Amino acid sequence: MSATANSVWKNCLAFIQDNIQPQAFKTWFEPIKPIKLTDKALSIQVPSKFFYEWLEEHYVKLLKVSLTRELGTNAKLIYVIKMENKYGNKEPFTEQIPSSNRTAVGPQELDVPITSKSPELKNPFVIPGIRNIKIESQLNPNYNFDNFLEGDSNRLARSAGMAVANKPGGTSFNPLLVFGGVGLGKTHLAHAIGVEIKDKYPEKTVLYISAEKFTQQYIESVKKNTRNDFIHFYQLIDVLIIDDVQFLSGKSGTQDVFFHIFNHLHQNGKQVILTSDKAPVDMQDIEQRLLSRFKWGLSAELQSPDYETRVSILKNKLYRDGVEMPEEIVDHVAKNIKTNIRELEGAIISLIAQSSFNKREVTLELAQQVVEKFVKNTKREVSIDYIQKVVSDYFEMDVATLQSKTRKRHIVQARQLAMFFAKKFTKASLASIGSQIGKRDHATVLHACKTVDNLAETDKQFRKYIEDLNKKFS
Ligand code: ADP
Ligand code: MG
Repeated sequence: MSATANSVWKNCLAFIQDNIQPQAFKTWFEPIKPIKLTDKALSIQVPSKFFYEWLEEHYVKLLKVSLTRELGTNAKLIYVIKMENKYGNKEPFTEQIPSSNRTAVGPQELDVPITSKSPELKNPFVIPGIRNIKIESQLNPNYNFDNFLEGDSNRLARSAGMAVANKPGGTSFNPLLVFGGVGLGKTHLAHAIGVEIKDKYPEKTVLYISAEKFTQQYIESVKKNTRNDFIHFYQLIDVLIIDDVQFLSGKSGTQDVFFHIFNHLHQNGKQVILTSDKAPVDMQDIEQRLLSRFKWGLSAELQSPDYETRVSILKNKLYRDGVEMPEEIVDHVAKNIKTNIRELEGAIISLIAQSSFNKREVTLELAQQVVEKFVKNTKREVSIDYIQKVVSDYFEMDVATLQSKTRKRHIVQARQLAMFFAKKFTKASLASIGSQIGKRDHATVLHACKTVDNLAETDKQFRKYIEDLNKKFS
């Protein structure tokens, strides 16, 4: 009996159903219709482009496994998107997209000269090999330059990134450090540069890694006594991208090892790309010699997008999802969510989802509800810098005074209050609070917090300070 689209899909569904939550199965798999089977390619119809992206993002592995079980290793999946255009009266139309729109960046093979004594070079990404190791770039092809929209807020960083991608290691932007607040596109841009380099120079070994994962690997290598292999591995990379380097703050062992890797790469004309949530001058607990390296190249800031850029990001997102939405709704979202592109996208995704599941038209009222929820839920964490600024303003002094070594009582009190609020409103450790507020140690911060607690009980004027300041932070 030969397989048909229906029979293959039925078996896939049975397998998928066993592996996910019933609700997810109902939402994402029941609406799918198998359309045809040719050779080893199964076409399935999905209700929207958003649907397709969701499947690709969340269930691609599961789909692949289930399909491979049915059709063997060459199995292919093709999505047929049936779009109903709710806002115009155009006919529904279809579009076909193969699974994984952009091909993933394949593994990179590298011949490794055996110079170290151990015959085996350990790849911390756990693909064992001896002479020839495969290095997965860890790049996400969905973060590329095509969908990284340009605006005043990111022009410098974006074009520096482009320049680096055109000539990795060959510009003065080495390292290229991209910095900016949460959700402003650092990770996206970092991947885009890597993806572009792989397009232009497939022979180059590119590696993207978060500073956090880098740190874990390093710690692991120390435990297993393979620190040299770890260093050696990273020294083989042509383009090293490390995301969120502020994470290295206070981790002197990892900073040290990174310093050596950095120097080696830089001397050999290899490109280093870094991202951080702060400008180098504001980075705390990073060794001076490393900071000075960061400043060798270019530091480019990603700022909050202006209104026009927010609108174009939203419109582009809708366009890529094949969804239309009235102008006034886009406008409402863009006007109200200002400082974070991730939230901007989150709000629009939530609107698309609501409209496509509840078959509800997106009205301005629905948009208002969604936006309100977003703005409410994302009360942002205040930063220690911000706290120091607010406290200094309140006591009419500047931040340098607040941080100074003076023992004048009103300044000491201001400093203690800043420490107290930093403890209360941020997740920072006592040590990190101390080092950011005038380079004190953790015991000083602890003492400050106790003093504030005591004074709050005994001193009426002081209690008023706390109440006033509390209002400014909540
Ligand atoms: P960060 O790493 O700075 O916290 P991300 O790179 O994760 O921020 O970006 C958050 C979201 O905003 C991602 O979904 C990203 O694709 C999107 N985004 C950021 N900048 C842009 C841009 N210029 N154009 C389109 N999308 C963007
Ligand atoms: Mg990021």
